[in-house]
This record gives sequence, structure tokens and C-alpha cells, in this order.
Amino acid sequence: MASKSILCPFCRGIVTTQQQSGYHRIWRVQGCLCPPYSIFRIEFERLHENPARLGGKQKRVYALLRERYHRNSHLPSPLLCVDQDPPDDFDAFTTISVDELLHTWPTTLSERVDRGLCNLINHSMGAGYTIEYDPEKWDLLADDTNVSGFVLQMMRERDWVEVTEDGEYRKTLLIRPNGWARFEELARSTRPENPVFVAMWFGGKDKRDTMSHLYERSIEPAIEAAGFRAKRSDTDEHNEPIMDRIIEDIRKCPFLVAELSDDNNGVYYEAGFARGLGKEVIHCSRENHRPHFDVSGINLVKWKDDEHLQRRLRDRILGVMGSGPFEEKA
Ligand SMILES: [Zn+2]
Repeated sequence: MASKSILCPFCRGIVTTQQQSGYHRIWRVQGCLCPPYSIFRIEFERLHENPARLGGKQKRVYALLRERYHRNSHLPSPLLCVDQDPPDDFDAFTTISVDELLHTWPTTLSERVDRGLCNLINHSMGAGYTIEYDPEKWDLLADDTNVSGFVLQMMRERDWVEVTEDGEYRKTLLIRPNGWARFEELARSTRPENPVFVAMWFGGKDKRDTMSHLYERSIEPAIEAAGFRAKRSDTDEHNEPIMDRIIEDIRKCPFLVAELSDDNNGVYYEAGFARGLGKEVIHCSRENHRPHFDVSGINLVKWKDDEHLQRRLRDRILGVMGSGPFEEKA
């Protein structure tokens, strides 16, 4: 297959593009600073001509792709969708919309410090090895060097990181025992063995049976088929003791599945809370339903019936999270 060299619209490195075998409209892109990705050829060309279409956020896409890859390098490389809706039933690819990826950009300083630490460690050879830190690689998920410098300063003050060589631009870092302790604490709170939290409305009196049926026939089997365990929330029973338990369950879950077809406020709240903790949220919605505008840029798992939801949700989980620690059920 013929290939040619051009610039990646996200990291501006030189890439090789090649037609994805079997899909004439899709390019596989590799060789730049980003982990390999696929993209619709027409979208790549449009972005390449006008990178400003992403509103100055193209480097964020690069940093988030890099974070995703180094957190879990066995995940399949994604098909990035910019404007194009990912084709329904395009299950051979892990589709990620660029909007959805950008939604995971940290919104608080404490989230940035924690995720920055995890990124540094995920790129390191292990405890005791030094790390070459280059602000151009965006590991601290900061838009400029003032912010990344501040985040690094916070890490030093918390005794997480020591700067062993302070070059004018690049630095050599060593993760201190306190940094490893924080990293392990963060990893423990999202252990894949913990139950996946399912946020959905269980439908008051009239729809309770239908929704329980959907959970039991589609959502729970999909999660188990991907090798995880599920835990459902009963969002129509919100009161204080239950809320405390729900918050605790969300803190511990490896990721969250949100079923949005009924536009329940509790479900949006739980999904937003998990997002704020930096967790993956997989949103599902019935095919003819339009969820609330805040999630309209997100790549939804749209479903027609029980069987369709089970299959698509299982494939999405495997694409986003990889397979879980429990035996996969057929
Ligand atoms: Zn790139």
C-alpha cells in the first residue's frame, strides 16, 4: 500500500498514513508522538488543512491519547471521530469521539496533580529509575509551561517527586516513596476487581420491571462478558445514607456505565461525579432518544433492543477498558 509523510493534526509530528485494510474511507496513522490511531480520511484532511477547527485544543487530544495508551497499552488503537458520528455497529473499531476525549481533560488542580503523577509513573521504568521530564510531552496535562511548572512544584512540595537534574528546559525526576504511596492509593481505589457502577433509573412503580429486565438481560451480562462485575444503583431511592453509599461505590468502581434513556437527574449526577474523579464513563441510550445537551458530543452506545445493547456495550467496554480480571462469560 502506498503511503506518504505529512503532519499529525494533533501533535504536529511527522506521520505515515496508510489505508486501513478493508476500509477504504479510514486511515491508520502512526509515527508521530501520538500512539497509533485511525481516523476517517476526510476528517484527517480537513483537520490537516485547518487545525484551528479544534479551537486550539489539538495538543490536548495528543496528551489524552498518550495518557490512555500508557495507562493501558494493551487496548486496541482507537478510531477517532471529529464531526463524523461513529457508524452504528462499527464494532470492529474502538470509536472515540474527539469531544468525548476532550471531556476527560482535568478540570481541577488536584485532579491534574494526581493524573500527572500517574502519567510520570506510567512512563517510568519502575521505582528507583529516573524519568526524563519534557514539558513538550504534556504528561502533566497542562496547556502551558506556567501551569505545568506549578503542578511540578506542588508535587515537590508534597515530597512526591525530586528533581535530580534541573536543565534549563528538560529535567530529570525521581519519584519519591510518598509519590509511589499516592500512586498505589489511586490505583487501589479503581481496582478492576471492584464492581462496575451502573447508573440507571429503575423506573418508579410502572417501569420498574422493564428497567430491571433491561439490567438483568443486557447490562449486567455485557459487563460480565467483558470480565467485570456489576453493581446497580437504585437512583429512585436517593436519600442521605444511600447517597453516601453510592458516592463510596462510585469512588471505588473501575468505570461507570450510565443508561440515559430516561433523562433521570440522579443518573446524570452520578455520571458527572465519576467524570470528575477522572473515571471512564460509558453512556448508553435508546436509539430514538436524545439525551441532555451536556452529553450531546459524547459517543453514545445507542441500542435498539436488549440483545443489541448487550452486544454493543460488551464491545465498547472491551474497547475502552480491555478485558476485566474475571472469567469472561460467553
Ligand atoms: Zn500525533
